[in-house]
Amino acid sequence: MISAEEKSRKAATLSAAIDEIKKINGSASAMPLAYCVVYGCQQNEADMERIRGMLKCSGYGFTETPENASIIVVNTCAVREGAEMRVFGNVGAFKKIKEKNPNLVICICGCMMQEEKVVDKIKRSFYYVDIVFGTHNIENFPVLLLKKLRGQKRVFEVLKGSENIAEGLPVLRSSKSSAKVTIMYGCNNFCSYCIVPYTRGRERSREMSEILKEIRELGSSGCVEITLLGQNVNSYKDGDNNFAALLREVNKIHGIERIRFISSHPKDFSDETIQAIASCEHVCKHIHLALQSGSSRILKLMNRKYTKESFLKLADKIKSEIPGVCLTTDIIVGFPGETEEDFAETLDILEKIRFDGIFSFIFSPREGTPAAKMEDLTPHEEKQARSPA
Ligand code: SF4
Repeated sequence: MISAEEKSRKAATLSAAIDEIKKINGSASAMPLAYCVVYGCQQNEADMERIRGMLKCSGYGFTETPENASIIVVNTCAVREGAEMRVFGNVGAFKKIKEKNPNLVICICGCMMQEEKVVDKIKRSFYYVDIVFGTHNIENFPVLLLKKLRGQKRVFEVLKGSENIAEGLPVLRSSKSSAKVTIMYGCNNFCSYCIVPYTRGRERSREMSEILKEIRELGSSGCVEITLLGQNVNSYKDGDNNFAALLREVNKIHGIERIRFISSHPKDFSDETIQAIASCEHVCKHIHLALQSGSSRILKLMNRKYTKESFLKLADKIKSEIPGVCLTTDIIVGFPGETEEDFAETLDILEKIRFDGIFSFIFSPREGTPAAKMEDLTPHEEKQARSPA
């Protein structure tokens, strides 16, 4: 935990940088415009809303046309390798715009920047990228931008981790009626196919009082729907307050009519949370519970820490205690070592639970994760045949 003094010193540095950029932008002949691109999950979108908030306070307007921009910000996602290739392709296209407008500032941030090899590649091959920062220092963006505007050629700052959760950052939300509110950052679970714990670090929960303050402000400014975000919202913890306690408190906030949350890990889905969802009238009776596989053997290889039987029990309990609940799930088809028998187990559990919606993905190895090193003998055509997608 960083000290209160350190927090207020950081906040003062941030606001001085924003004021300074605003002065620089105020002396320009026309309002400078920002072009923002975001890849990946809702967490990345929420981060981008904070980046846009800081840009707005610094005197930038926004454009949907990169050619009109004074600054381009790309918030990247590292979950799938295909997405990484797309990011590099799109950033490559900005080179021509920069050739026509050498004052353009190009900035890349987000999960991909937490990978050393990616940052090395940008340093070597994308010489026209000016600013790079990662997932742990978003609040430092204006400070980095000011360095660039003051003449530093390239500004790279990627932290390996952080205990700090910056509160009170300006946010420019994409909707007035519906808002994403991050309640925790990072993940401790290390599912064997997932890069998130390496790019977003260990779990850090926001203080409940800060979350409630943010949602009260949203409620009084006309927002009616809140989505609570975290890689594993069920392990939210602030002192004695857990996720169920948070749901109960958010449920009391005036103006908030619908409360949603994402993502939930089955191993942490407690009875108390089920009761809170059942009893809070504003909490939507929709639970997205990623199953991934119906084979306990494959679940073990995935490091999911539950079995087919325990998942079935949990689904039964949820259905009986929350009448009419809508249950949706994710399935990974063709995980390394998945046999026809393992896949039959998946079909069996799907048959038993009868989810209301299924998102199925064919396994694709993510470099840097244990699953990428596992022997995978199943031909792609067979995986495709197994996938209902
Ligand atoms: S719970 Fe597993 S899949 Fe979800 S973010 Fe954490 S490691 Fe990744």
